[in-house]
Amino acid sequence: MSILVVGSVAYDTVETPLGRAERVLGGSASFFAVAASFFSPVNLVGVVGQDFGEAQLAAFRGRSIDLEGLERMDGKTFHWQGRYSLDLNSRDTISTDLNVFEFFEPKIPARYRDSEVVFLGNIDPVLQRRVLAQVDRPRLVACDTMNFWIHGKPAEVRETLKKVQILLINDQEARELSGEWNLVKAARAIRAMGPGALVVKKGEHGVLMFGEEGSFATPALPLELVVDPTGAGDTFAGGFLGFLASTGQEGDAALRRAVVMGSTMASFCVEAFSLDRLLTLTRPEIDARYREFERLTRFEKL
Ligand code: AMP
Repeated sequence: MSILVVGSVAYDTVETPLGRAERVLGGSASFFAVAASFFSPVNLVGVVGQDFGEAQLAAFRGRSIDLEGLERMDGKTFHWQGRYSLDLNSRDTISTDLNVFEFFEPKIPARYRDSEVVFLGNIDPVLQRRVLAQVDRPRLVACDTMNFWIHGKPAEVRETLKKVQILLINDQEARELSGEWNLVKAARAIRAMGPGALVVKKGEHGVLMFGEEGSFATPALPLELVVDPTGAGDTFAGGFLGFLASTGQEGDAALRRAVVMGSTMASFCVEAFSLDRLLTLTRPEIDARYREFERLTRFEKL
C-alpha cells in the first residue's frame, strides 16, 4: 500500500552535547519518508525554496519516494534551529524561519489521490484537512500535531482529529491536548475525540500505545551513543506506518509489531545528525535490531 505524507522539508541547525550540525537536511516529512520507504512506497507532499538543490534531493533519490508533490517555490527553504540539554531529554527552539513554508498550500498530484495510507505531519490542522479532502478513499489516516497548534488552533485540531484513526504525539502534547496529567486518562479523553489508537512517544523512555484492545508499551533501545534526537519522532512514525502499510494487517498484534518497528527505526535516527544514519541503513540491520527489541522485552510467564 502506498503512503502519502505531508509535512516539513527543512534545513536544520542543531547543537547537541556531542557537536553541531549547520544547515543539514531535516523536516518531519524528510525523516518520515526515508524511514517509511524501507517498507512501502511513499508519496511526498511538501515545499522547498530555490536554495534546496540536487545535493539535498539525493537523500530521497534511489528510494521508493515519489517527489512529484515536492513543490519548489521562490524564496528560501524552511529553517529550524534547536539546542539540546545535556541529557538530551529537552530542547530549546532557537529560531524557526518559516520562509516558503508560510505560503504552503498543499496540492496533491492526481497520481497520489489513491494513496491508501495518509500521514498528516505536523502542519496547520486546516491544511491537514485540505490534504485529506484531496485523497479519494484512504484506508488509514494517521496524524501528528504539536503544542503550537494545540494552543493556537484548538477547535481546528479537534476537527481534524475526527477524521483520524491513529494519533502519534509526545507525552507533553497528550497532556495539553486532553487537559489531563495522567496519561491513561489523557488517552481516554483523546480517543473520545476520534482516533481509535493513540501512540504516545516518550523519547528515551519509549512508547505507550492505547488502542481498542488495551494498551502496549515498549522501551527505547538502550544505546551507548546518542548523537542527535532530532527527527526521532517522525522516523518512528515512518517506520510504524511504513511497516503497517507493508503488511496490510489490522488489529492489535499488527499495531504492536509496528510500534516495535517504529522504535527500531528511531533508534538508528538518533545515532547521527540529520538523516545520516538512515541513509546508510540496510534491511538486514533493521531486522537484526528488531530482534534486539524482542530479546530486550521478552520475559517468562509466572
Ligand atoms: P522531531 O524531532 O521528530 O520532533 O522533529 C524535528 C523536525 O521537525 C526537524 O527536522 C525540524 O525541521 C522540524 N520542525 C521543527 N519545527 C517545526 C514546525 N514548526 N513545523 C514543521 N516542522 C518543524
